[in-house]
Amino acid sequence: MIQLEKVSKTYQTDKVETLALKDIDLHVKEAEFVCIMGPSGCGKSTLLNLIGLLDRPGAGAIRVGGAPVKSYRDKDVATLRNRTFGFIFQNFHLISDLRVIDNVELPLLYRANITAAERKRLAREALEKVGLGARMEHYPNQLSGGQQQRVAIARAIVGRPQVLLADEPTGNLDSKMGAEVMDILLKLNAEGTTVVMVTHDETEARRANRIVRVFDGQLVA
Ligand code: ADP
Ligand code: ADP
Repeated sequence: MIQLEKVSKTYQTDKVETLALKDIDLHVKEAEFVCIMGPSGCGKSTLLNLIGLLDRPGAGAIRVGGAPVKSYRDKDVATLRNRTFGFIFQNFHLISDLRVIDNVELPLLYRANITAAERKRLAREALEKVGLGARMEHYPNQLSGGQQQRVAIARAIVGRPQVLLADEPTGNLDSKMGAEVMDILLKLNAEGTTVVMVTHDETEARRANRIVRVFDGQLVA
């Protein structure tokens, strides 16, 4: 599904160069659930951003579904990204003055050939999948943190992506709400969606197929 070969990434800010990732070889298979773990600053978010084609590597090759991304133009990378990935973040990133249903519809606004009624239907379906069918008319601040994260998951899956990328999705949730979010990710994975998730929680990570450990920008296990 996703292959990284000898991938490195250096950030350049003013006079400071940070080698965030070095010679990463990683193969994420279809329908796998992979957890990425490691101390703060070791390169986990950078790795997730590269996998999700939000950023380009300084060296090495990334393949998504067999296609070498390097040969794509920016516009085509964006198309591939939107078709392949759904993103979930620690801080939900919901738009506070849009209702839940309108937040979930957002990724579909960029799609051609889809009617407003079809967008609504898909958004409703996604919300039902995360158990929030009754909350569609609410605003995000009327929901608990766990519910807001479930809205964010609905938004991430509404376009039926093959891969869900989650950067510490339970980091701001208590353990009960975190476990609920984890249950939903596992359910989506069981239905065939590939999941790559950054977490600091060993209990959560043990529920995945595989744990990838990063230290100082390198894969160590
Ligand atoms: P983690 O997600 O494991 O906390 P990151 O991938 O965010 O780690 O960061 C890895 C390293 O790269 C850190 O030293 C961080 O400060 C640096 N870094 C990340 N993003 C940038 C950026 N946009 N510009 C400069 N340095 C960055
Ligand atoms: P994490 O929850 O993994 O610690 P952060 O909040 O540190 O994530 O980073 C979120 C994003 O901010 C990173 O993916 C990266 O793009 C950017 N970032 C992180 N560190 C830096 C930095 N030192 N300079 C600029 N941007 C950064």
